Amino acid sequence: MTPRMRSADPRTGDDAAHDLAELQAPVLGRVTAAAALQALAAALSVAPMVAVVEIGRRLLDGRDDHLWAIAWTAVALLAVRLVLYLLAGTLSHLADAELALGLRLGLADHLAVLPLGWFAGGVSAKVKTTVQDDVGALHHAVAHARGDLAAAVAGPLVIGAYLLWADWRLALLTFAVIAAAQSVRMRMAARSAEPVQRIAAAQLELTAASIELVRGISVTKAFGGGDTPHRFRAAAAAYADVNDEAQRLFVRQRSLTRATVAPATILLLITGCGIGLVALGWTDPVDILAFTLLGLGLFEQITPIYAARFLGRTARAAAHRIAGLLREPAQEFTRHPAALPPREPGTPPVLELDGVRFGYPSQDQAPDREVLHGLDAVFAPGTVTALVGPSGAGKSTLGMLLARFYDVTGGAIRLDGVDIRELDRAELYRHIGFLFQDVVLLRRSVRENIALSQPDAGEETVRAAAKAAAVHDRISATPRGYDSVVGEDARLSGGEAQRVSIARTLLADTPIVVLDEATAFADPESEAAVQDALAELAGGRTLLVIAHRLRTIAAADQILFLDEGRIIERGRHEDLLAADGRYARMWRAQHGSSAA
Ligand code: ATP
Repeated sequence: MTPRMRSADPRTGDDAAHDLAELQAPVLGRVTAAAALQALAAALSVAPMVAVVEIGRRLLDGRDDHLWAIAWTAVALLAVRLVLYLLAGTLSHLADAELALGLRLGLADHLAVLPLGWFAGGVSAKVKTTVQDDVGALHHAVAHARGDLAAAVAGPLVIGAYLLWADWRLALLTFAVIAAAQSVRMRMAARSAEPVQRIAAAQLELTAASIELVRGISVTKAFGGGDTPHRFRAAAAAYADVNDEAQRLFVRQRSLTRATVAPATILLLITGCGIGLVALGWTDPVDILAFTLLGLGLFEQITPIYAARFLGRTARAAAHRIAGLLREPAQEFTRHPAALPPREPGTPPVLELDGVRFGYPSQDQAPDREVLHGLDAVFAPGTVTALVGPSGAGKSTLGMLLARFYDVTGGAIRLDGVDIRELDRAELYRHIGFLFQDVVLLRRSVRENIALSQPDAGEETVRAAAKAAAVHDRISATPRGYDSVVGEDARLSGGEAQRVSIARTLLADTPIVVLDEATAFADPESEAAVQDALAELAGGRTLLVIAHRLRTIAAADQILFLDEGRIIERGRHEDLLAADGRYARMWRAQHGSSAA
């Protein structure tokens, strides 16, 4: 089951309830059947109390008829109730487990079709909360809420009917006592709502501050002398204050509730009313037993309604977040992928930018701000193109468009004339490989990391790639060599991790490679080795280098100078120097005026 959500305006309160209903829909039948069984069980739970009352009534009247029959009927009804409870519990928990699994798999499937750029915005905490905590929070709504509510209505209805039948005057007085007690409880609960919300908000801020504390610990230590950051101190203090204030209120309320609307008080009040009516000659004394016993049962049985209100709110909020994640627009991958036209074996396809425009999706309702304004370029097979320009010009953005982290908002990127949006995902990544600034190694063996694109690649292939990327010796020096797990027994430096990722790209053997120069040359000690690895990488491939240091790309076949999202100069190094434009100025700034 892969849930797909209708589009909704998250600002309206009803949406959360609608989301919850929609998410529960696949198991609603079973959950309703379970609730009906639970309601029946709750109605039967009255049986022992009625039996005690009826036996008491007979004994006090000096009769001993049907005593055992009443007792055994109560026992039999209790047994039936037990079976009904078991059935209801099993049914609702199975439905809940199925729903939780379906939602988690559905969320995972949906995450897989979101544009990769979506993951760049620090969403890991959000995804974790939704997939783990929110799906867990739905447990109550699915497995308990409906059944608890049905039971909280069915049990009291049966008790109420019995009491009315036994003595309508005492019944009405009992209802009045219970209604007054419940209204006191409700008022107390309403007063707790605000402090509970304040605790939740303070907790959220404390969590965010804790995450920042851990993530930024190195920077904080370096610049703040190891002090606990201000935000964390403030959040911890605010949480302590809010919690302290709320707990004082809760303790006061709990004591007050226990002293006023406790079962003993209810017992006392009902007994008092009963004695009054007996004194007036309106009620049989034996009925006092019925009313004290069943009145207490009535009071206790309607309690879940309060818990259901609070937990229902939590479940609705959780459902709204799950539905929100499921509504994140998926990246369109065509259902009928196009095939690339046949070409000479060993020749890379022609990569072409055709009027490429792009604006990052804005977080609020504001229109997207365009950062690439119509780029045209052809990357001929087997050539090296360097993309240069000032910071913020759009170089990395173009790299991300080629990897389909995002899709162009105008124009097209083509491979041998086929729009890359028309290609199957696997087909695209078979042709274009990437080496981005952020090196990501998975917590798996070094071998698996290198052979990510071909998990069944042989030992020799993996070693050859590692040797070409100048990282074989380092891997061999780890405790278990290629079987060492990254982050456990293979603790690699930034530069080493980068070379492992170069080995991965070499092994993937894509005919086109987009690489960020910052990745490749971040490690000065191994720069020569990495240069060799890249020369290896360039052999016969089309290379697009996002360059920062012009010296490394002076021999490129084509240099594109990007500024504010436009290609303002293009050509070979010598041509651009001769043109004496922005590139020439940048070159002189990096190498001095004599270095042409
Ligand atoms: P640098 O050389 O500093 O890495 P760049 O040429 O690679 O810069 P980009 O990172 O592509 O530049 O940024 C181009 C523009 O897009 C900049 O104005 C930047 O602020 C904006 N930008 C980059 N990433 C995002 C994002 N995730 N959301 C919104 N705007 C972004």
